[in-house]
Amino acid sequence: MNRTTVKLQSFGIDTFTFEEALEYIINNPGQVVTINPEMVQCAKNSPEFAEVINSADLVIPDGIGVEIGLKILGYKVRRIAGIEFARKLVDRFSENSSPVAFVGARPEIVKKAVENLKQETPSLNVCYVQDGYFKDDERVLNELGNSGAKLVLVALGSPKQEFFIKRAKELLPDAVMIGIGGSFDVWSGVVKRAPEIYQKLGLEWLYRTVKEPQRFKRIFPTLPLFIFKVVQEKFGA
Ligand code: UDP
Repeated sequence: MNRTTVKLQSFGIDTFTFEEALEYIINNPGQVVTINPEMVQCAKNSPEFAEVINSADLVIPDGIGVEIGLKILGYKVRRIAGIEFARKLVDRFSENSSPVAFVGARPEIVKKAVENLKQETPSLNVCYVQDGYFKDDERVLNELGNSGAKLVLVALGSPKQEFFIKRAKELLPDAVMIGIGGSFDVWSGVVKRAPEIYQKLGLEWLYRTVKEPQRFKRIFPTLPLFIFKVVQEKFGA
């Protein structure tokens, strides 16, 4: 299976379906970026971050903003929720007890998230757990590198997690690594995902904004501005 990407604001996004993306990355391990409008915005202001996205091994469209942006440009690509993708990766790697590492979130959160996953998937082979509030990157990278992980889940928020993975990839070139933002908070049971109807309608962001009004500042004006830029892109302005 070969990658087919489409350009959105100069960034290549993979057009795989959920299942195809899963098969692809399992067979071609490397860095998975779950891209959203905030990340595109950030990368446009940071050549270093743009480079990380451009060198990723798989870029999946996470969130309705990217799906709408691609639709405006005439591409029909379904969004792939990073949290669901990562959960499926955990299952797939656990089928043959491949070692999985967890890096990120507050100490009690990551601990609880791992406990819950272990209950759901008893064959999960946890080889490393590290909360996301460490000072010494070298120590964590070193420990992770020695853990032998084949799947590395990193929840440090973006772009921190993508930069971290970029470095970790050099130490574990055969591992699948994915940055998954607040997913450990959800898996720990502390944060609830939006009800399914919101997820289906692509309105998870609305639900989260109502629940956590401070997110409003993050989403606006990023989302409308992003759509505006894509429209400009379409008409070559
Ligand atoms: N986080 C972390 N270390 C940091 C900053 C953030 O481990 O230095 C964690 C934080 O505890 C949360 C996640 O990163 O679990 C970021 O969640 P957020 O909701 O910001 O991510 P999003 O999915 O919105 O990108």
